[in-house]
Amino acid sequence: MTETETGTAPTGTPPTGIAPRTGSGARVELAGIVKTYGDVRAVDDVSLTVEPGQFLTLLGASGSGKTTLLRIIAGFVEADGGRVVLDGRDISQVPVHRREIGMVFQNYALFPHLSVAANVAFPLEMRRVRRRDRAALVERALEAVQLAGYGRRSPKELSGGQQQRVALARAIVARPPLLLMDEPLGALDRRLREAMQIEIRRLSRELGLTVINVTHDQEEALTMSDRIALLAGGRLVQYGTPEELYGLPNSEVTARFLGESNLFRGPVRHEGSEAVLALPHGRILVPGDARGEGEAVVVVRPSAIRIRPAGTGPSRPAVSEMPGVVSADIYAGDSRKVLVAGADGAELVVRCESGAPLPCAVGDEVVLEWDADSCHIIPGAA
Ligand code: ADP
Ligand code: MG
Repeated sequence: MTETETGTAPTGTPPTGIAPRTGSGARVELAGIVKTYGDVRAVDDVSLTVEPGQFLTLLGASGSGKTTLLRIIAGFVEADGGRVVLDGRDISQVPVHRREIGMVFQNYALFPHLSVAANVAFPLEMRRVRRRDRAALVERALEAVQLAGYGRRSPKELSGGQQQRVALARAIVARPPLLLMDEPLGALDRRLREAMQIEIRRLSRELGLTVINVTHDQEEALTMSDRIALLAGGRLVQYGTPEELYGLPNSEVTARFLGESNLFRGPVRHEGSEAVLALPHGRILVPGDARGEGEAVVVVRPSAIRIRPAGTGPSRPAVSEMPGVVSADIYAGDSRKVLVAGADGAELVVRCESGAPLPCAVGDEVVLEWDADSCHIIPGAA
């Protein structure tokens, strides 16, 4: 993994008025974190580092251990093993309220009987900030989440998106160097979710916050993150930039989780200067850097594939080819998704521009082709 980014990224948007206390967020190191519940290894030996100001997403299916790991960082759950290190200091034994961490929960967890301002002021009270300083800090936090003037209202008078903003204001009001969020946008509709993604990212950059965000939504992870940690069964499957996880998946788990993909498994053979995945029904060229022989998985993204009618020749030399029968043609606005039943029964996915005419119809025999360098190989995939 590469660690090139540190500190805050510049933005063109106006400042929020909340200056970060240290000028940058915390550096977070997780070392060998383990948590078991009975027979379940909820978190299984996870180690990773988040650099100051980075936005990390813990991504994974339900039950993969995201919430448990986040709650260990926050201090709500005690790990069975491993260390949480914040700016060089082991905080594993530090109680929740001493960790200087802001947290946004999925269900907002606002106090319904308190006003918006009192909700946002809560962390300041906990930290014994003087009463006369509180009001200004609360108003600035509300301004930062575009809720200036809403302080007197009750949370019940606000929409879901506004309540989530209040939760966000409460999480940042004390200017913590680390913000943790557990599926913060899960309950919002798509349009609002996308707007909030952009807003949270802007805010975290302006404040120089280090953020650890939990989601099962791959689009959210790809859009918002500097780094993604993909979890499965409590284990860290892959850690890297969104581009690395999407373009260079290290495993079938990653390739399946991030975006649509077609996976082909088989033995790699060398034929002259070419490396080929030997399959009974097709010939798949393996990109040049494939090492050695043995079992491998080739990942082909749906947009890399071209469709041509059966019985016609390849559109250019040196392409991979796979025969099949078109089973569905699904219009999706800016693209169209074509499903093709491969000769071995597997369903293959192709994404075409919706404007271009398809050279085939449902039921037609076709050949799928793609260039060798537009696929990715996972060597040694067992
Ligand atoms: P995620 O947030 O990715 O959905 P969780 O961290 O909530 O996953 O859960 C990971 C695993 O640990 C699951 O199998 C879950 O059932 C189990 N688990 C989480 N918390 C507890 C608990 N308090 N008691 C027993 N099992 C738990
Ligand atoms: Mg969870």
